[in-house]
Amino acid sequence: MTQKEPPLKADLHCHTHLSDGQHTPAFVVERARANLVTHLAITDHDVSQALPQALNEPGLKLINGVEISCLWEAFEIHIVGLFVDPTNSHLQTLLSNQQMKRRERVAQMAGKLTALGTTGLLADLLAKPALALTRSHVADFLVANNVCKNRQKAFKTHLNRSGKLFVAAQWCDHTEAVRAIKAAGGIPVLAHPGRYAMNRAKLRRLVECFTAAGGEGLEASYPNIAHDVSQHLIQLAVEHGLYLSTGSDFHDATAHWTDVGKFPTLDRAAAKQGIWHHPVWQQQGIATE
Ligand code: AMP
Ligand code: MN
Ligand code: MN
Ligand code: MN
Repeated sequence: MTQKEPPLKADLHCHTHLSDGQHTPAFVVERARANLVTHLAITDHDVSQALPQALNEPGLKLINGVEISCLWEAFEIHIVGLFVDPTNSHLQTLLSNQQMKRRERVAQMAGKLTALGTTGLLADLLAKPALALTRSHVADFLVANNVCKNRQKAFKTHLNRSGKLFVAAQWCDHTEAVRAIKAAGGIPVLAHPGRYAMNRAKLRRLVECFTAAGGEGLEASYPNIAHDVSQHLIQLAVEHGLYLSTGSDFHDATAHWTDVGKFPTLDRAAAKQGIWHHPVWQQQGIATE
């Protein structure tokens, strides 16, 4: 990790309408190009699709990714996989299973909603382009059908743990997610670690377990991250020998707090531990300068 740091803007976490993003892959790629992103990984929830080569543009390298919802102890955590081979059967088996659990969860939510007097949730969601059905889709349905005033309220009254439609998800264990990402040739990255409802001691334990399971990176920069949280995550990564990743977690162009390519840049010292130094990234032969 001694080479001169390249001028790169790597957005390694974003969503499309294949999960709960609002836009097509082509839209997200175009927005990345417009925002001068140099490397873009599309990381939909529990979906990994090969990005059409046609979307490749000069100056912007596309990376196949995924964001897997999984369990660590009693916590739901998210693990991003970068450079995964979307055709790998080990990964596809795990993702198909997660997608099936998501459909079953929505079916159970639809049953509860019908009992409350509103029908049509499951059919509405199955007609969408999404391969992974999420609570965001349910929230949009609740708003469109005048059950809730807006998305935030939908989460608060219906979709959070104490909500009227809540159904606990049966995600895979974090060790299985890491194994599947590695089987598919990818790099496992702990997503947005500062967003989990855990204190610093717990977070340290999570990073230890994630590393022991074969995890290789963590996100140290994403929108609205406090500087001290970012510094703490960088410190944890240094202690555990993890690479640092960055990403917007973009979902929707109308949300002004986020955009493709929008997140604090790592400082020069931290960038030396950037995930672009990982051997898997280097083997791709995608230029970082
Ligand atoms: P799921 O993976 O199906 O449980 O859906 C979770 C998704 O819902 C996340 O990826 C977020 O995009 C979104 N989400 C979670 N909590 C909220 C919230 N309070 N308000 C708006 N969106 C949320
Ligand atoms: Mn989401
Ligand atoms: Mn996430
Ligand atoms: Mn995400």
